Amino acid sequence: MTQIFDNPADFADEALDGFVAANRGYVARVDGGVVRSTEVPAGQVALVVGGGSGHYPAFAGLVGPGLAAGSACGNMFASPAAGQVYRVAKAANAGGGVLLSYGNYAGDVLHFGQAQLRLNAEGIETRTVLVTDDIASAPLDEIEKRRGIAGDLTVFKVAGAAAEAGLDLDAVERLAIRTNYRTRSLGVAFDGCTLPGADAPLFHVPAGQMSLGLGIHGEPGISEHPMPTASELAELLVSRLLADKPDDAGNRVVAIVNGLGTVKYDELFLLFGKIEKLLTAAGLTVVEPECGELVTSLDMSGLSLTLLWLDDELEQFWAAPADTPAFRKGNLAPRASRELAGPEDAVAGEAENTTPAAAGLGRLAAAVLAQVQGVVVEHEEELGNLDAIAGDGDHGIGMRRGVDAASAAAQETSAAGASVERVLTAAGEAWSERAGGTSGALWGSAVIAAGLALGNKDSYRGEDAAAAVTAFVDAITELGKAEPGDKTMVDALLPFRDAFLTAFDGGTPVRGALASASAAAQEAAETTASLRPLKGRARPLAEKSLGHPDPGAVSFGLIAARISNYLDSELIDSDLTDSPLAASAAGNGAHA
Ligand code: ADP
Ligand code: MG
Repeated sequence: MTQIFDNPADFADEALDGFVAANRGYVARVDGGVVRSTEVPAGQVALVVGGGSGHYPAFAGLVGPGLAAGSACGNMFASPAAGQVYRVAKAANAGGGVLLSYGNYAGDVLHFGQAQLRLNAEGIETRTVLVTDDIASAPLDEIEKRRGIAGDLTVFKVAGAAAEAGLDLDAVERLAIRTNYRTRSLGVAFDGCTLPGADAPLFHVPAGQMSLGLGIHGEPGISEHPMPTASELAELLVSRLLADKPDDAGNRVVAIVNGLGTVKYDELFLLFGKIEKLLTAAGLTVVEPECGELVTSLDMSGLSLTLLWLDDELEQFWAAPADTPAFRKGNLAPRASRELAGPEDAVAGEAENTTPAAAGLGRLAAAVLAQVQGVVVEHEEELGNLDAIAGDGDHGIGMRRGVDAASAAAQETSAAGASVERVLTAAGEAWSERAGGTSGALWGSAVIAAGLALGNKDSYRGEDAAAAVTAFVDAITELGKAEPGDKTMVDALLPFRDAFLTAFDGGTPVRGALASASAAAQEAAETTASLRPLKGRARPLAEKSLGHPDPGAVSFGLIAARISNYLDSELIDSDLTDSPLAASAAGNGAHA
């Protein structure tokens, strides 16, 4: 049981506050997670790690010299929102670029991916290396689909040491990729874990049984076994990992026995002793091993074995010193502490200069978002029902939560005189932070991308609208990686973009181009009824979905139509008729 809390909803936040209070010499709290509280040499690559809370010392416990520069900390077992990752990375950046590294889970991929797009768009060069060490989660020929467990530590450690040594972003990324490629883990569970406030564990393992390969959040394992002896368990873990070793494996390995929460250290040590003998008997030399709690799952009863096959370069970085709250190795000179902007400052960001005209356009952007909110509210139930056919039924409520937050953020920023850029980036961030779900991360990212493409200007031309449409669509395809025909919103987005650009390039003013594009999107959304879903949560129930359109494509079509109608009827009479966009929208000329 997880027993110590006031309000279960505040558990992750309050635990993080207390962790910082206990480790001020190492970490400082920023909005979304923690960063080092000590000086970071200028130009050093910032390794930013993260994921759900409940896995301590992963991830906040690994922040310090020689390891991570920051950690984005989500709710219990839930990915941090894109905005959190973005803010932590921004605070951690020391001018050498950012490497995002985290375990391969769908929610984390979307949110960290969205943050990466935004950081890159702002000129902070950002890369990603996913940790995919868990051999139980996919076969070797699909290694990129494996999820990340205790192998997080080897990848973070090597990347962090390489950053500390002053290597550039390319080199740190390359070493992290190589470490991940040479790391394998396998876990076993003896019993489940209980989220704060829950009265039953997330999952159970029958008494006297052991589940092999069960994921750290209760994802299904690969087999059930009667509880083995320690020697049998050591033999099982070692033999499975050795059978999965990388092509170019040498004979020097790091071995990590990791406790998942409630297995005592004495038991872990007992097992480690047996594992070390087996590895040695297999002709391997065990180098600087670890045995203890490194990536946990609340009070889960279970453990894992990780092996990293070293080469000379990886060994150098694995053995390099590190000094963090939960992981220390060798000696590092003490670091001076540094001043950090308070959380408020981090949210507010740099001051923005807007002219009255730019602020007027910011208000127009907020008015458009209010329209989007209106159409989502009208269709909330229908979208939920559509998603319930083959998905999880939350598309209506997810879109509603996202757009309510986005519209509120847009009203607030535009009332304060913000530009289109600021209004849309605030709206997109609020959208992804509040919506949850796949579509929330994608919509949030797309709205931010459109805002960055439009920028802070006094007037917009047709070209700006074309750039915003393109940026909106690109953000979704880059982040979600869905292909045409996968039965997702992309099947409505691409026809929308193509129709817009074709009409616009042919001399049609923005309003007309938008009208053709939204008609194309609605038609394409209906046509998705004949497709089988190949991406997203509806995939396992593909057959059921046949004959029904994709919910995300339908909601996009509805929203595109509403925006088009709104701009068509309102723009001429608005106070913006002098801007080139308004002029072209009024039909006074093509894209001059
Ligand atoms: P979730 O799938 O997390 O429950 P929603 O129900 O809100 O989120 O959204 C479902 C919609 O998200 C789908 O109908 C589809 O249009 C869209 N979607 C899912 N995965 C992708 C992806 N990889 N790329 C683009 N769109 C996607
Ligand atoms: Mg859904």
